Amino acid sequence: MRELNQGIADIKMKRPDLENELITKYYDSRLDQTILLSQDEKYYIEEKKTITVGYFDGYYPFSYENEGVYHGLAKQVLDEVSVLTGLTFEYVRLENMDEAKQALLDGRIDILDYCGDTPKSMRNDGIAVTKTYAKVPHVIIMKRDSATNEIKALAAVKYGDNEENIAALVNEDAQILVFDSQLDCLYAVNEGKADAAICDGYLSEYLLGSNLRLNKLEIRSVLNDAHVIYMAVKDDADSPLLSILNKELIEVTDKMVNDYMLKDNLFARNSVESFIRSHSVLIIVIVILIAASIVLVMLHMLRDSRRIQKLMYKDAELNIWNLNYLKYRAQQRLAADRNQKYAVVYMDICQFRRYNTLYGWHAGQKILELMVCVLAENTDSEKEQYARSQGDHFVLFVRYDSLPQLETRLAALEDKITQRIYEMADMRMPITMGVCCIPPGSDDIQVFISYAIQASDLLKNSYSNEIRIYDENLRVQLKENHDREKLLESVDINKDFVAFYQPKVDIRSEQIVGAEALVRFKDPTDNGAIKAPGYFVPYFEQTGRITEIDFFVMECACKLLRRRMDAGKRVVPISCNFSRIHFTKENFPDQFEAVMDKYQIPKEYIEVEITETLVVEELQQHKVKETVEILRKKGIRLSIDDFGSGYSSLGVFEQIPASVIKLDRSFLLNNENRVRQVKIMKNIVNLAQDLDAQVVCEGVENENDTELMMEIGAYVAQGYRYSKPVPEEVFEEKLDRKMDA
Ligand code: C2E
Ligand code: MG
Ligand code: MG
Repeated sequence: MRELNQGIADIKMKRPDLENELITKYYDSRLDQTILLSQDEKYYIEEKKTITVGYFDGYYPFSYENEGVYHGLAKQVLDEVSVLTGLTFEYVRLENMDEAKQALLDGRIDILDYCGDTPKSMRNDGIAVTKTYAKVPHVIIMKRDSATNEIKALAAVKYGDNEENIAALVNEDAQILVFDSQLDCLYAVNEGKADAAICDGYLSEYLLGSNLRLNKLEIRSVLNDAHVIYMAVKDDADSPLLSILNKELIEVTDKMVNDYMLKDNLFARNSVESFIRSHSVLIIVIVILIAASIVLVMLHMLRDSRRIQKLMYKDAELNIWNLNYLKYRAQQRLAADRNQKYAVVYMDICQFRRYNTLYGWHAGQKILELMVCVLAENTDSEKEQYARSQGDHFVLFVRYDSLPQLETRLAALEDKITQRIYEMADMRMPITMGVCCIPPGSDDIQVFISYAIQASDLLKNSYSNEIRIYDENLRVQLKENHDREKLLESVDINKDFVAFYQPKVDIRSEQIVGAEALVRFKDPTDNGAIKAPGYFVPYFEQTGRITEIDFFVMECACKLLRRRMDAGKRVVPISCNFSRIHFTKENFPDQFEAVMDKYQIPKEYIEVEITETLVVEELQQHKVKETVEILRKKGIRLSIDDFGSGYSSLGVFEQIPASVIKLDRSFLLNNENRVRQVKIMKNIVNLAQDLDAQVVCEGVENENDTELMMEIGAYVAQGYRYSKPVPEEVFEEKLDRKMDA
């Protein structure tokens, strides 16, 4: 065997095609072979033309129906006969062998194309059989898990006198159960009615492979005796049909069977179909379960995504979309709508924080809700978006046609908001807006929001509605601010600052009766050039270092007074500006007093200037009130700066024990309704004098101003008409000599 195998392997190596050649030569080239038919046979064929063939269903792969159509190798064999002889076949389905025999004898059919009965029994019934055209191996099928090979009950299909052969396979006392079909035999084994079944090898291979119900069965052994297959015809000596068939029938080889079974996808199709059919309930249940769990998972995901969306995109406090959502929507709009102009607006409610601390969180919340309301009414919900960024800051994403149109619209919106807030809270809260127009084609919304914020930052602490557009000028300004901040960060207060003095003059005598100390910055990066407070005070107010500057200026003034006093020269009271920050601090009065003591300055020579806004807004705060009270008790003179510039009222007089009222320059500028103006100012002056407070007019620039002052009865002026703020030595010079007008 080994040598033979080696030899075959060698041949295969040398001639890989040999196998194919042999198969073609011996099996497939039947058409080349000329089959000689006798005269009778030719005549029969010519006469007969159509031959009726009877077939059985259920003998896969030889003879079976699929979807009502007859298929199988038996039919293929006859097809070939048809090609060779020109005969045509017509097929009739038969149910069993008895019917088939009867049909042959009756002449209802001419041929039975699949027949496994022993030829002997057929001949006895007057039927003749052809040569064998196929051999089907017999197999024994048992349950896979049956331990023994012993067969007590054998299932078999009734095949006439075949029973004897079958009986020979098993012990004498074994029972033979006869069934109508091989499938029934297999079911019998499956259900335990029989220990084994004897079946056709090909068919059982197919049934076991395709019928999942039978998956516990296996082919246990292949029997030596094959089941031979013939065709049958009526035993009629006059008919040449039998001899024609015997000449023309080809033999169905194992290879043909295998090829057929492989090619015929019935196998696979049937297996899926039969699986579905036999497990339909299970499958439906599984499908429903899977569908249900998918739905559950989806619901869960949906709920989660809603929750996440809510967390990500909702302002929980105000129940509106938040900035994340605005950014998301804006980005979409910018991408979708490239021809439209869009802008972002950063809105701020001035004084909101103060209102919130004064009236409580709920009152503040009401303002914010009102804001949301007005925004909702005034934005296009489809193409525009609003959101809160934080606290009282809102962001708007708006469409616009032209810059003037946008500004008009936003100004109207600001007015509407302040008006509505005023109606509700009886308080004017200015709204400021930083605006950034989004250049066409860009969609990085975050950058533009940050520009809008920068523009809005410049409007902080506004006392009226304002709009600031982020443009090139603003960018340059912001850059300058940035550079300035860098510079101011590093300054040395004692070295880089200096106090200037602006005289206060009695307009009747033109005598200096006082002065205000004003701080100046000697810019070390600009050759010590003098810079006014507008350049640096806001920065130091932000950082809190303004308090150091205030005391530095105060010390300058004290030194000046001390030196002059020591020299026996004339001194006048000097007022110093003190930032609001001091008033919220614990030790300001003590610190102030300590400096006065250090230079031995009598109380009346240094005045504390506090701005009117501080008085109006922060007196409500306990701390500020307390500080003012302590200062008063210590006999320190308070001066209310910029009176009339904000929303002050005469109530200030009641609240603050001021020794000096400084009328803001804006009083002098208002020349529109002079008569009325004079009346008001006269009364303020009267009231101040009644309260023993001195009135100083700020920003007195010309004769008109002094005339007005005379009219209202205020005689102390501080302004360019008399002197600008000047360095110490210049001020002293002025003080030393009588001023020339
Ligand atoms: P202020 O206290 O109201 O000072 C008066 C401002 O008016 C000064 O501006 C002064 O130069 C200006 N002024 C005086 N006469 C006239 C005039 O006839 N016409 C016009 N147009 N302006 C006039 P300055 O020196 O630029 O100071 C601006 C502000 O800076 C001050 O306003 C004050 O609030 C603040 N400031 C100045 N020095 C200090 C300081 O040492 N500490 C603090 N906290 N603030 C200071
Ligand atoms: Mg001042
Ligand atoms: Mg002032």
